[in-house]
Formats: sequence, C-alpha cells, structure tokens
Amino acid sequence: MTDWKKRTKAVHAGVRRSQYNEVSEAIFLTQGFVYDTAEDAEARFIQAGPDEFIYARYGNPTTSMFEQRMAVLEGTEDAFATASGMAAVSGALTSMLRAGDHVVSSRALFGSCLYILEEVLRRYGVEVTFVDGCDLDQWRAAVRPGTKAVFFETVSNPTLEVIDIAGVAEIAHAAGAVVIADNVFATPVFSRAAELGADVVVYSTTKHVDGQGRALGGIVLGTKQFVRKTLEPYMKHTGGAMSPFTSWIMLKGLETMDLRVRAQAATALALAKALEGHPQLARVIYPGLESHPQHAVAMAQTGSGGTVLSFDVGSREAAFAFLNALEIAVISNNLGDAKTIATHPASTTHQRLPDEQKAKLGITPGLIRFSCGIEDTDDLIADVMGALDAAQASRSARDAAE
Ligand SMILES: *Cc1c(COP(=O)(O)O)cnc(C)c1O
Repeated sequence: MTDWKKRTKAVHAGVRRSQYNEVSEAIFLTQGFVYDTAEDAEARFIQAGPDEFIYARYGNPTTSMFEQRMAVLEGTEDAFATASGMAAVSGALTSMLRAGDHVVSSRALFGSCLYILEEVLRRYGVEVTFVDGCDLDQWRAAVRPGTKAVFFETVSNPTLEVIDIAGVAEIAHAAGAVVIADNVFATPVFSRAAELGADVVVYSTTKHVDGQGRALGGIVLGTKQFVRKTLEPYMKHTGGAMSPFTSWIMLKGLETMDLRVRAQAATALALAKALEGHPQLARVIYPGLESHPQHAVAMAQTGSGGTVLSFDVGSREAAFAFLNALEIAVISNNLGDAKTIATHPASTTHQRLPDEQKAKLGITPGLIRFSCGIEDTDDLIADVMGALDAAQASRSARDAAE
C-alpha cells in the first residue's frame, strides 16, 4: 500500500470491514462498546488493542478509518479527527503549550486562527510573536532557544501568500520548536507538508475533503507520539471529537477528492490566466501564475496553484456589482466546494479586522476570493467575464449620473 499513488490510497486506505464484508464503509453510529466480561472491560481500560474501542469521544471504527486513510495520504504516522477545523487548530496548539511558552506565528491568518493565537493563548500566558510568514529573516529573528512551536497557514487566506515550509522548518527545528502547519489551501491532494518538515499538519476537512458543503470537520496529523500521547489526552477530555456520521461523510468525500481537486485547480489556473491583465482588475493573485511572488515556492512545494484565486475589482461598489451579477458562482464563505463560491472578504470573513490590519494584509475593498468548483471551465470563465462587464456597466452608469 505504501507504493500506491495518493489517488488509490484515497479510495482504499484504512478500510476496516465488519463481519458482513460491506463494500462501502460502515457507519458505526455508536457512542460505546460492550465488553464480554468485567475482566475484558478492565483489560481494555488498561490497554485497548488496535480494533478495540471504549468511547466515541476518542475512538470509533468509522472515525478510525477516516483517520488512518488521512494519515496514509499525508504520510504521517497517525491522525486525530475533530469536530471542525478550528477544533483541530486549537487542539493542536493548546494540547502542547503551557503558560510561559513562546510561539512564533505568521500574521496572515484566518480570523479564528488569529483569535486562538492572539486571544486564547495569550490569555493563558503563552507569548506569541507575529511575523511576515514569507520573510524567512523575520522567522530567524523571532525564533529563540525555548520557542516551543511555530504556526502558519501554508497558503494564506485570502491573499494566497505561500510559505516556504522547508525554510521555516529548518529555522524552527534548529531552535527545537515544533512546526504546526494549517494546510487547508494546499489540500491533501497536493500536500507534501510533512515531507517538507511540518511536524503537525492540520486541515479543516469542511473544505476539500468533504468538498460538497455537507459537514464541518477537521483533522490533526503527526507522529504517533504526538497524536496519541499529547493530542489525544487533551481531545479526549475536552470533547472536540468528530462524529461517526461525519467521519463517514469525510470517507466518501475522500473517494472523489483527487478528481474534484485536480479539476478545480485546472479551472483556477485557466481562470487566472484569462483574468491576468484584464483592464478592470488591479490585481490577480494565484500561486500558479508566474507573476505570483512565491510562484517558484508554490510549484516546488505542491506542483499546483490550488483551487482558489483572488482578484481586485477596484472598489467595494464594483465588488458588490460583480458578485450580484454572477449566475453560476454562489455568494458564500466556504471554499474548496464542488460549487464555485465567491466571497468578499472585507465585508464578511474579515469584516471585524480593523481597517489598518486589512490594509496590512492586502484585504482591499475590491478584493474577491474565488473558490473554483467542478463546473465546466468555459462556463465559469464566461460567468466571471459577464459579471465583470456588469460591474463595469454599473460603474459607467454611476459615473454618468454624478
Ligand atoms: C476554514 C478554515 C479553518 C477553520 O475550519 P472550520 O472547519 O470552519 O472550523 C481553519 N483554517 C483555515 C485556513 C481555513 O480555511
């Protein structure tokens, strides 16, 4: 199985069949498990075997299949599935940190990740230093002996800055720090994060793994030692486990993930190329374009620009006119979905950031985040071009009225 390509692993890895030898993975909608004797119960509480479970808050056959399949895909020893991506991010950090520890983090973070680092960890006495994640000199200056962990989104949301995982890992490891990478935008399909030096890889499986907008989920991947000795005790007692039904949805999602994500990434590249240089756009940001500042890093790291691009239509008014004119893409805030989703970060996902922080992160009033789905590429390009025309027409009408 270790010789299989990811696409094969994503369909077959980690399968555990019941006595009925079912084809599709079974959903074990059970919170607990019966012991034949009191002696068996005692023995299992002392040391549960690989096919023995105690309580679904920290082990269930369906969830275990999902965890093992993800670990095989990512190339890590083990994994722990969580109720959401944020349960995974907060669990990975809080399970290993204590008051007095120091963490270095990239500044360009998803709002909830920023809340964990800026609010929660600091409240509990963890010192956090923020750096520009693309500047290795800043990591070098911030990391010190005794830095416990570094944290970053490998591709930032929504401005798609790509972080050099191997570069940051070398600096972190020299100081003895654990590298924790939130790898959502890279996707498990294109990820080589563990191989490049990330010790702990985190995903919101709400995104490309489910990929069909059905369920929230997350996963933390790492060594057996980290997952079972550091993370599991914390998750087990604080209760952020993935439900067995969600694990089954995620397993079904994994079966088609490779096909979906590759089609989505091909569309994203075609759309980015079609939009680059468009007179109405101030910027087109896509790691797969040669004009992207970290294009070389992105290609070396994942071989793909991913499924999401961002572009700036110039103003909030133009952004709203553009969104309202889209006929295929829906206005929402998820990403990685089979349906194309357009987002205006400044007024939604990043609304609460102070204006100066928005400016610092490049979240301009005209910025659109565009998550490509699996619809026909030409239809999507036509949808975007049509909506840009509509935005232009509304601007001209406004100018004429003024
Ligand atoms: C969506 C997302 C999360 C949070 O995941 P949820 O499943 O919504 O809790 C964390 N990090 C990144 C980069 C994300 O895109």
